[in-house]
Amino acid sequence: MAVTSLRGEVTDLLSRLIRIDTTNPPGNETAAAELLREYLEASGVECELYARVPERANLVARIRGTGDGPTLLLLSHTDVVLADPREWSVPPFSGEVRDEEIWGRGALDMKSQVAANAVAIASLAREGFQPAGELIFAATADEEVGDGFGLQWLCAQHPEAVRCDYAINEGAGDRLDLGGSIYYLCSTAEKMTAPFNVRVHGRSGHASMPGIADNALVKAARLVERLAAYRPEPEVQQEVEAFLQTVLGEVPPATSAVERARAVHPIAAELVEPLLVPTFAPTMISASQKRNVIPALCEIVVDCRLLPGQSPEAVAGIVREVLGSDVAYDFDWLEAQGGTRSPLDTPLWDAVDSFIEESEPGARAVPICTAGFTDSHWLREAFGAVAYGFFPMRTMPPEVAAQLIHSADERIPVDDLELGLDWLRFAARAVCG
Ligand SMILES: [Zn+2]
Repeated sequence: MAVTSLRGEVTDLLSRLIRIDTTNPPGNETAAAELLREYLEASGVECELYARVPERANLVARIRGTGDGPTLLLLSHTDVVLADPREWSVPPFSGEVRDEEIWGRGALDMKSQVAANAVAIASLAREGFQPAGELIFAATADEEVGDGFGLQWLCAQHPEAVRCDYAINEGAGDRLDLGGSIYYLCSTAEKMTAPFNVRVHGRSGHASMPGIADNALVKAARLVERLAAYRPEPEVQQEVEAFLQTVLGEVPPATSAVERARAVHPIAAELVEPLLVPTFAPTMISASQKRNVIPALCEIVVDCRLLPGQSPEAVAGIVREVLGSDVAYDFDWLEAQGGTRSPLDTPLWDAVDSFIEESEPGARAVPICTAGFTDSHWLREAFGAVAYGFFPMRTMPPEVAAQLIHSADERIPVDDLELGLDWLRFAARAVCG
């Protein structure tokens, strides 16, 4: 009854959100923000739009607190990535409900959580929920590209709107069956993306007489091989430690962590492996623009992911050591984003844990550091907020969801949408109730 009607309400809202094309670029998230404002105001939730440019609005809504309890932010983004209709079995902006699944771009990433967040705060408002702290809803623009119209801009220009103690965002919620034991992943940390380029110098010359030149491309090849062969010393950080402790019942040394995880399940090894070390993957190379000219310059771009707490400055010395000193080069960081973590011993963690215990007895929550990054780091950096990525999925297997995100035929089971809504309502009561 109450639950059944909320199930219908969240399904309908997700369909309507999918039908608004917020492909970024260009985004045009204002249309989604206005739909959400209309929906939320109908339930008496106070709303405000914040926009750097009129067509790219962020919506922030709130139920004000009665005392000085903690503030919980339900965070989501309304933009989506490109969808090519030729690859889809349904029109990607149809929001069609078929076989108890809602289809369309954003069904997983992440209009599902936008809709569940909205229905959570709206339904609590209708029930007269009076939190001690404050419950905030933010549906932001421009997460997928990150040109500074979304949460980054809000934190800098309107910090009072999104200041929070705790936040629930995207990033995890996968249900893993590891040898008969059930675990739900909750993302509490993210690696830092810190790509760099290496420019190798030589001397140009006509390619018919290689002896007169000094070929930068040939010298760069040596550096590419050294980067590829480098095996950093593994370390077990707090998220992996907690993961291994829960799954294995003990924490093995860093050097045997992957093998021990593999013995439980190959997926466990896949999860742990990139979280023990920084990774250095050369992905792009450019040199001469002409076949018959030996290049004086060769540029290599390296996708580098650092562990939380590692800084590009600290890792620069390692990179120089790996590259060696026999080849002349310049080396520059291209950017550094993410790489933040939140503590594990918090009321929000307790809420995740109790929700799982209640909704699937015997299952356990495990923390994970995600190899990619989300908008959570803006909240951690601006306010020291505890931000977790958690939207539980029970019906759709994680390997299926992983294939559908940013891909064709993206869809979510209505059961999972409803589970996510249950979680958000539970969390609001547990954390700021
Ligand atoms: Zn996303």
